[in-house]
Amino acid sequence: MQVVFSLRHQAHHPQREFESSGFQEPFERPERAEYIREALAADGAFEFVAPDDWGTAPIEAVHDPGLVRFLETAWADYQQAHGPTHDVIPDVFAMPQLREGMGPATEPTDVSARLGWWCFETTTPLTHGTYDAARSSVDVALTAAGLVVAGERASYGLCRPPGHHAARAVYGGYCFFNNAAVAAHHLATTTSGKVTVLDVDYHHGNGTQQIFYGRDDVQFVSLHGDTRRAYPYLTGHVDERGSGPGVGATSNFPLPEGTDDDAYLDALADACADIDAFGPDIVVVSLGLDTFFDDPICDFDLTADGFERCGALVAELGRPTVVLQEGGYATDDLGENARRWLTGLSPVASSGPG
Ligand SMILES: [Zn+2]
Repeated sequence: MQVVFSLRHQAHHPQREFESSGFQEPFERPERAEYIREALAADGAFEFVAPDDWGTAPIEAVHDPGLVRFLETAWADYQQAHGPTHDVIPDVFAMPQLREGMGPATEPTDVSARLGWWCFETTTPLTHGTYDAARSSVDVALTAAGLVVAGERASYGLCRPPGHHAARAVYGGYCFFNNAAVAAHHLATTTSGKVTVLDVDYHHGNGTQQIFYGRDDVQFVSLHGDTRRAYPYLTGHVDERGSGPGVGATSNFPLPEGTDDDAYLDALADACADIDAFGPDIVVVSLGLDTFFDDPICDFDLTADGFERCGALVAELGRPTVVLQEGGYATDDLGENARRWLTGLSPVASSGPG
């Protein structure tokens, strides 16, 4: 299987993130991608390729161009306004309740205020190299998608930073550009085929769901920790099924604390039944590995064996598959977990074009 990877991810290197009780060392850090790269490189079944430069047009086809411009300039603007710093985190959020009854706000001009206009939470610092790394992550996703369009049955984009929490006009949750959504939109619009995004990250892919919620050409199917207890809290419920022409093209499978391999695979089989019913030409997998029993920020109990079984079940869909890395924070095990998931998928990768 071909693996798309770029060292440019290392440019995004936050020193701290803020959660409700205070600052802490970031869970989303460069070593994550390096451990995965090392594990795949040690297994002779994976061939590494560099991403192409796709420019910003595929990103702006999915995201508000204002978000793209903001992420391109915000770090430098902040340094100019406030002096040198390493991490930049918003302190005022543009919540619509602030102006309830007064009409909507317009985008502020002050860079600190703009942080809270384009970002929805506090765990996603901007750093000197964030924009370059985020652009690179999209390039990785699009190049992996291009491999499948060219005839590969499966490909893996080692995306970092991840993407699935980034919605059309807001970033957060360690995510800046929604790599899977950019790739899925590109595939749907350039191949005229139907695309499914299967999101198996522990956290609900709120951004991907939001981007495709009203569409009938891209299906979104997610298994995740029930958002009545788990980040990002505000989306991911069973009754969210899509809107307008997209009604029925969104499926959510919120799962309880302690979900183990067998329970997860049962839910994944139900998700695959929804995918079969939709009948996509290509499947994009948002591969979060934070469902692992030893992940520091999640409460599922999946094992490496379970990950290989998950990959094998997705292979049974029998459809060209683009796998894109999302979360996963048990760094010591992350490489092996990714390798096992992709090894499970390998029957689809080795069955040749057609
Ligand atoms: Zn996650």
